[in-house]
Amino acid sequence: MNERYSRQILFREIGRAGQEKLLNSRVLLVGCGALGASHAEILARAGVGFLRIVDRDFVEFTNLQRQTLYSEADALNRLPKAIAAKNRLAEINSEISVEALVADVNHSNIESLVGDVDLVLDGTDNFQIRYLINDACVKLGKTWIYGAAVSSYGTTMTIFPEKTPCLRCIFEDMPAAGSAPTCDTAGVIQPIISSVSAIQTTEALKILTGNLEKLHRSLIQIDVWNSDWRKIKLGKPNEDCETCARANFEFLDAESGEFSAVLCGRNAVQIAPPKPTKIDLANLAERLKSLGEVKQNEYLVRFTAGENELTVFADARAIIRGTDDISVARSLYAKFVGV
Ligand SMILES: [Zn+2]
Repeated sequence: MNERYSRQILFREIGRAGQEKLLNSRVLLVGCGALGASHAEILARAGVGFLRIVDRDFVEFTNLQRQTLYSEADALNRLPKAIAAKNRLAEINSEISVEALVADVNHSNIESLVGDVDLVLDGTDNFQIRYLINDACVKLGKTWIYGAAVSSYGTTMTIFPEKTPCLRCIFEDMPAAGSAPTCDTAGVIQPIISSVSAIQTTEALKILTGNLEKLHRSLIQIDVWNSDWRKIKLGKPNEDCETCARANFEFLDAESGEFSAVLCGRNAVQIAPPKPTKIDLANLAERLKSLGEVKQNEYLVRFTAGENELTVFADARAIIRGTDDISVARSLYAKFVGV
């Protein structure tokens, strides 16, 4: 072991033995946007031996204000985030191994992504994938660290299947499509990303070095703009939880748990929620109007963003024109409608 990790080894709770454990650890980063890029950099510098990064998006100029791994060149070249992250991490720490996957995370691949790692970090921007991660991690007995940030506030929780409440113990139902603000509609400032990521990655270091007694065992909520920090202590898993008590992994089942995405006609994809749901079209139109051209009637909202046009219906179904790539359409839906 060279001098690279000397200051971390001096930190007694990690020490030389902890550093060895980090070097032998395998972590999955789901999403490599703002939170994921921060996770990747911190864990690569800390010497986590293997990082698997999976992300479906490309680097854009709107990302550079907060997604700290990426450069103007990455945005100009429209590099996939997973690839741009791997390139940058190789400059930061060439001694670890990084696997970059440009892919949409869904029911068909989540279990194989999670299956051979020690820990999963949530760097996604939507609840659809978080419930999928929760199902897969509870099913396979893997620890995962939930994290979310928008505007100036964020939240995080560490989930040890069967020992702590899972995501669904706390949030029984997925928020309705279009009901929650996203970074693309409400904006976001970088410091909340660093704050949530700092808590998530510290938890990761504790878990990977075996310092489990130090975990915060809370639902942590932070608002950096309003200087509000809250820590809600978590109790035991919910005995009625569909996921961890009843082992009903419905999000792993494409029919019942997943937004469907199908090509419809030339250069258009339809995204539809798994269950009928009602969307507040007036509220959606209001949130989108500062971002592009919005037309609305009682049946739909039509929003034009660059080359893409999103038509969102009252049942939360959407037709996204300007792409025939299902993962691009899913990504636009998550950003502008929100799931
Ligand atoms: Zn549960």
